[in-house]
Parts: sequence; C-alpha cells; structure tokens
Amino acid sequence: MTDICSLSLTEVACALHKGTLSAVEVTKACLARIAATEARVAALITVDEEGALALAAALDKAGPDPARPLWGVPVTVKDALSTKGLRTTAASRILENYVPCFDAFAVQKLREAGAVIVAKANMDEFAMGSSTENSAYHTTHNPRDLRKAPGGSSGGSAASVTVGQCFASLGTDTGGSIRQPAALCGCVGLKPTYGRVSRYGVIAYGSSLDQVGPLTRTVADCAHVLSVIAGHDERDATSSPRPSEDYAALLQGKSLKGTRLGIPREFFGPGLDAEVRDACRQAMDKAEAHGAELVDVRLPHTEAAIATYYIIAMAEASSNLARYDGVRYGRRASPVSNLEELYVRSRTEGFGQEVKRRIMLGAYVLSSGYYDAYYRKAAQVRRIIRDEYLAALNQCDALWTPVSPVTAWDLGSHADDPLQMYLMDAYTLSLNLAGLPGLSMPVGLGANSHLPVGMQLMGKAFAEAELLAIGHALEQILPPLAPPEI
Ligand code: GLN
Repeated sequence: MTDICSLSLTEVACALHKGTLSAVEVTKACLARIAATEARVAALITVDEEGALALAAALDKAGPDPARPLWGVPVTVKDALSTKGLRTTAASRILENYVPCFDAFAVQKLREAGAVIVAKANMDEFAMGSSTENSAYHTTHNPRDLRKAPGGSSGGSAASVTVGQCFASLGTDTGGSIRQPAALCGCVGLKPTYGRVSRYGVIAYGSSLDQVGPLTRTVADCAHVLSVIAGHDERDATSSPRPSEDYAALLQGKSLKGTRLGIPREFFGPGLDAEVRDACRQAMDKAEAHGAELVDVRLPHTEAAIATYYIIAMAEASSNLARYDGVRYGRRASPVSNLEELYVRSRTEGFGQEVKRRIMLGAYVLSSGYYDAYYRKAAQVRRIIRDEYLAALNQCDALWTPVSPVTAWDLGSHADDPLQMYLMDAYTLSLNLAGLPGLSMPVGLGANSHLPVGMQLMGKAFAEAELLAIGHALEQILPPLAPPEI
C-alpha cells in the first residue's frame, strides 16, 4: 500500500485541507491502488476514473474548503445507492444498464461534503446474502485471505476500504450487511438507528429494516462520515426529524471506567466458534481491566430472530421487487409476443436464483391464508424482540456481542446451502428488527484462522454518539490490526 492509501480518512482529510496533499494526488493514489489490487480482490462493479479525476482537478482549482469536511477524499459507494450519472446495478442483471438521474440522499451529502466517488462497490444482488457471492457480476475476495469470502452483502465496500482503494465506503444494512463484512474483513462498520440516515435513493430490499451507514478503517473515520450523511430528509417519510450531531467531536473524553457493557448470554451459546469466542473473551477481559463493567443480560427471543427476520425481509422484498417488470423498471426481454411473456421473461432473465427464491417465499408468507400464520406472527415476535432489547439496554450503556459466529469462510463453501448462509446472520439481524444502532469493529484475530474477529456495540435509538465514543475508547486499548498483505 502506498503511504497515501494507508492514511486514515481523518489524516488524509487534514492533509488535504492543509494543502500538503492535493485532491488529484490522493485520487490518483486510490486509482493506482485499485489498478494494483482489483484483479485479485474484485471489490468493485464500476470504476469512475474519468469522473473522479475531473472532480479532483476541479476541487484543486477552487482550493480546499473548510466548510466541506470530506474535501477531496476518495470514497466508494455500494451499488445499491443511486449515483447521478453513474451506473447503479444493485449487482443485478435486471439493472445492468441503469444510470440514475438523481443521487441518493447519502450520496448527495457525500458530494456536498467534497468527497470524490471513485467507484461503485460489489454486493450481493439486491443486498440479499452474506458473502457477496450472490452478485450477478463477480465474487469479491477477502483482502486478508483471497480464498475467503469478504462477507456481505456490502462485501465490496468492506474489501475496498480494507485494501486501501478508498478512505470510506457507504453500505446498507438490512440484517447485518454493513457490520458482518466489516467484521470478516477487519474494518469498522456502523448501522445507524432506523431513520437516522435517509433511505431516499437506496434500492430497496426490506424497507422497514434497511439503513445506510459508513464502512471505514477507524472508529473516528466512521464518526466523520456519519456526521456528513445523517440528518432529516423530507423525501423519506421514515427519516427522523431529530437533529444530527457532530459525532467526531463527541468521541473524545470517553473513559471505559464505569462504562456498563451488557453481555447477552444468548450470543455466547452453542454455534459460536471457539476462536471467535476466545478473541471476544480477551477483548472483554481487556475492557474490564480498563474499568469497564460487564453486565450479564438476557435476550431470550434471540433464537426466534432468524425466522422472524427472514419472513419480514422476504415479504418486503417480494413487494419491493414487484416494480421490476420490464415496463416500469428494469431490463425488458425481447422479442416477446404478449404482455405476460414480457413480465415472465424479463424477470426470469433479470433476477438471480437467490432473489427469485426470496420473491417466492415472500409472496407465500403474504398470501391470504398464510398471512396470519407467518407474516402477522413475525410482526408480533418482532415487537417482543424490540422490547427485550430496550429492557436489556436499560441495564447498561451498550450491549457488546460477537458479529459473526465464525471468521471468514472459504468462498463457495456455503454457496448451495442457503439455510446455512441464513444462520450466519444470527447475531446481527435482531438489531434491524429492533431498529437500533450497531457499531462493528475488529477486536483481534482468531487463534487458528489468523483472520479478523469483530464485535458489535449496540445501543438505544439514536445513541450513535455514545456507541462511537465507547468504540473509540476500546480501539485505543485493543491491538490494532495490521493492514492486509496484498
Ligand atoms: N444476510 C442477510 C440477508 O441476506 C442480510 C443482508 C443485508 O443486511 N442486506 O438478508
């Protein structure tokens, strides 16, 4: 990695503002890093070399702007977020040639802050998956071990940040898709509270679960990006009117002394791999040695979360994806002889296997006769899960748990067993059901695999500042992960 690419976002933004680095220099360094690594990592779907260089040159011409915190900072964006004039596919064939005429809210905020979007990152098709193997285009490789999966669905975002192709990426998290790839690649990822970041311009998967958030290499970087993208947006009816905060400024001064971290027993039971458990244990011992108090809490319905999540997510997906009919949205099959054939062939050719599976299951749980047995029940259990989270959070400052039951697995090893893949989300998806924020960060390496282990801090609604401050304090006492060797 060149010197520039190994800087943190906070450091590079500072150098850009001071004028010790130019926007063109930094953008060129990231493009060179992309050229050097992309053939092996395959983190990206579309690279906008020309647009990025042109913007960087224009920024340099105008000079650094103190009012734009990400002035000249190269970033990548998951291909589920609409980017004006830049192809946006959601890693699906059905959107292969889609070039949006508008920016997603979070993308617009990045641009207003002066960021340079260098590329759109790979993902599982429509964000449905946990390994980025469901992309219609290619599989992304984990930069820490190219034979391993980067996690998903924001695997391209996590890989591109980890390998130094950019200083931050935006991802989306419906059931863990920011936190889990961050954990598997060894970077930081935040799923904000539902409503904290506008979903305007996000290609919808499960609308009551989806949230946009940053992936970065440090907690402070994550706070910087959140400050830029959080905020009210009247174009998203679920966007919170609550003012956002200067999360980076609020990082300082937090001591672990007296911080109460709730450890839900259910997250440390069978199914958790021994090396992940041990790495978490070591991190918890360290935190305790620095004055944190570990509190035993219960989340009894954790086991029901997977079934509940997959019913709700698939129901919402089947409804959201109905719009891709070859007429209103998406590629159109041709030639066809009638309307029904147009619908059937456009969708058959455009969607991948996992997406089809979820549309069918979603339509099934919403159908009359089954709605009460599945969808309504799931909605009821969802409320119980949320209440349990709120009760547990009343006993502590934040919950602290593993992110993934295992470290990164071999590419292809779960590819034809969707159920096993769904089980990988056991520790992340209940938080989306509850609508609460979660910060995933590396805490060490697995003793056998030597691959990153991540833990997540989960908090009350809109407690992002608190989570980031605790995460930042933890980052100071935990051993830093070395950059990947690629
Ligand atoms: N792996 C989960 C799923 O496939 C979560 C994906 C996500 O958060 N987008 O639904």
